[in-house]
Amino acid sequence: MEDQINIIEHIKEIEDRIIKACEKSGRDPHEILLLLATKTVPAKRIAVALEAGHRVIAENKVQELKEKYCALRSVKHVNHFIGHLQTNKIKDLLKYDVSCIQSIDRFELAEKLDQRLAFEQKTIDVFIQVNTSDEESKFGVHPGQTLQLVRQVAALKNIRIKGLMTIGLLSNESEKVRACFQLLKNIQQKVLDANIPGVSVRELSMGMSGDLEIAIEEGATIVRVGTAIFGQRPTPDSYYWNETSALSTATS
Ligand SMILES: *Cc1c(COP(=O)(O)O)cnc(C)c1O
Repeated sequence: MEDQINIIEHIKEIEDRIIKACEKSGRDPHEILLLLATKTVPAKRIAVALEAGHRVIAENKVQELKEKYCALRSVKHVNHFIGHLQTNKIKDLLKYDVSCIQSIDRFELAEKLDQRLAFEQKTIDVFIQVNTSDEESKFGVHPGQTLQLVRQVAALKNIRIKGLMTIGLLSNESEKVRACFQLLKNIQQKVLDANIPGVSVRELSMGMSGDLEIAIEEGATIVRVGTAIFGQRPTPDSYYWNETSALSTATS
């Protein structure tokens, strides 16, 4: 009970933060989608948020998506995928009604996804994930290679590009964090200028618990919030974001 109240209160606090950030930058809060980042959160707690009217959630691992799928099936919601995706997990991922994959960061992945979608006669929305913080450990295409990747992915028939996603630098120096979001916005403009048929990059998925205000000021249309709603996670984010640990889970 206590826990339920907390989750709903925390969502209200985040909505207030979104509204304030919008006021500051002259934006309409309706332009911003609050996406709940639910990695490590048990299905029961996620259901509390869904029942309170929050419909868009996102997982980082296919395994977790699978574990929570049955429990959440009866509660109306939309699933995005925001984690590092291995090509050998594509087939599994497509079983769980994910409507958007925000973490496309290499052509090989997009190509394999497209092949599987063709086989299943499905299409899917994707975002291109860009590594704007220039940290070796983070996933995402290099900023300078993003336009080329967009062009390649755009040629695939079963995938529709809808936006760009990034994880900003995790730092207390807000100007450095802001630079990441500005970079994503600049890349969006480059892609728009290139006028690639079938490509829409309207959505900018950027900003999390610690930096959503900066992201909104720089043009975010989707903020992905976990900790500030569900509390601290037991697993460090390096487990989800770091190349080395992702490789070690792949082989274990
Ligand atoms: C975990 C995660 C988030 C949410 O981060 P918080 O700091 O807990 O709000 C957002 N995006 C991605 C890709 C994540 O893995």
